[in-house]
Amino acid sequence: MAGKVYLAGAGPGDPELMSIKVRNLLEIADTVMHDALIGEEITDTLPNICSGELINCGKRKGDHSYTQEDINDLLVEEASSGKMVVRLKGGDPFVFGRGGEEMSFLKRRGIEVEVVSGITSAIAAPAAAGIPLTQRKVASQVTLVTGHEDPTKEGSDVNWGDLAKINGTLVILMGITKLGPISEELMENGRSPSTPAATIEKATLREQRIVKGELKDIASRVEKAGIRPPGTTVMGEVVNAIPEFGSEEH
Ligand code: SAH
Repeated sequence: MAGKVYLAGAGPGDPELMSIKVRNLLEIADTVMHDALIGEEITDTLPNICSGELINCGKRKGDHSYTQEDINDLLVEEASSGKMVVRLKGGDPFVFGRGGEEMSFLKRRGIEVEVVSGITSAIAAPAAAGIPLTQRKVASQVTLVTGHEDPTKEGSDVNWGDLAKINGTLVILMGITKLGPISEELMENGRSPSTPAATIEKATLREQRIVKGELKDIASRVEKAGIRPPGTTVMGEVVNAIPEFGSEEH
């Protein structure tokens, strides 16, 4: 009997934001392989939900951490032995989650794969801070970008100069430690220093914190507050779209 891999999204962190489909799959899967990014609250509930084997790919494996190659090989191994595997990723598996790469790897080896979407933190983190990504007359377009790379690095895949010139909302994932150079690059290329900005740390989790500011000071405010990954930053007029939500720092 052939096995199958479900590439599933766990949502941004709050266990109740996981879909019923994912939850049902977790209950019956032979093997669940999850990342650390799914957050502690979900990790803590997994042993109660899952009846099969639980593998934390965010943990160390023997003398080293799981590499992407280890994970790919393990997925193939488990599915090839006829098991039903849930590969559980933070947010949505196809938004900066390497879901695409894992799916190609499995498909090339003839393994059946089904993607089960999750709520991405790119949308849920701003939402948890009362920030709509689009709003009539405020923002009609959204750009999701990784802040993982140093914007001053040569050969960077992200063209911050171009992004500075695009209207609308900018959502930066994996950018907490690079927020300084990113803001600088955006301002140097023409984005207004007074562009509203907000960073949401550990959105939808109990420890969620929100820091608000403007493009010119968001990096220093985030640093001063001691914000740590995972955090998502939103830039654009939408940050102040719902003033009734309050602008206090948490
Ligand atoms: N596939 C994931 C994103 C993976 S990249 C998704 O769709 O959400 C990892 C980045 O996601 C983090 O660096 C951070 O920017 C963001 N992120 C994940 N969980 C988050 C959370 N609870 N709060 C804020 N940002 C989060």
